[in-house]
Amino acid sequence: MDVVTVEHLSKSYGDLRVLSDLSFSVHQGEVLAIIGPSGSGKSTLLRAITHLETATSGTIAIAGTPIVKDGVYADAATLRGALLKLGLVFQDFNLFPHFSVLRNVTEAQVRVLGRKKAEARDRALSLLDKMGLAGKADAYPCELSGGQKQRVSIARALALDPQVLLFDEPTSALDPELTGEILKVIRALAAEKMTMVVVTHEMHFARDVADRAMLIDGGVVVEEGPARELIDNPRNERTRAFLRRFS
Ligand code: ADP
Ligand code: MG
Repeated sequence: MDVVTVEHLSKSYGDLRVLSDLSFSVHQGEVLAIIGPSGSGKSTLLRAITHLETATSGTIAIAGTPIVKDGVYADAATLRGALLKLGLVFQDFNLFPHFSVLRNVTEAQVRVLGRKKAEARDRALSLLDKMGLAGKADAYPCELSGGQKQRVSIARALALDPQVLLFDEPTSALDPELTGEILKVIRALAAEKMTMVVVTHEMHFARDVADRAMLIDGGVVVEEGPARELIDNPRNERTRAFLRRFS
């Protein structure tokens, strides 16, 4: 079963073609690492899947339901239902600064899923505990380290019970010593068979944790395959050139 299916997806901003005829899918229970140079279209791809950007053409289906089919978007109710299956974690956390940690993790459960406050609170506290943030429920984002903020944003995404978590460079805004704690959380989620798509420049992590890797360059899929194989033995010259920067 594919959780996300992308077929012939293209996205242009005016004359600038950012994504060109991309096709791939994300299978249930796998971790897909998306790698590629800056400006290659990785964020635009995640933003198209989550409908923060509209596709210019192509098809995107979530758990079998097309949100856009051959460039035509589904109705609002279908979109809403399908997008609820996705959780997105941003590079710069995107927490609500004026809400406590607890409220950051409960708000959407109540507003979007219609959960009772007590139930949302229990779920939030259990996720915060799992993220190693048991004592931080009443803190405000400004009182947290970058790594702690990112763990709150992962808890917030998980609180809505998504079928897939999408991470856009989750460690890029962090000091190197805080990167490890986030990668550890993602590793633990992978061990629980959480389906995840991770845009990352952490090649060791991608090699070790991802099942598959996909290199995007210039808005096209250059190479895709088992993560370890792709990173250790890239077949494509553009993949080789990209990976040389990390060795
Ligand atoms: P990556 O995440 O791989 O670094 P992006 O998806 O952010 O790449 O960007 C891909 C290209 O699209 C870049 O050339 C960027 O300047 C351009 N781009 C991204 N967002 C917009 C936008 N809202 N309007 C115009 N151009 C954009
Ligand atoms: Mg990006």
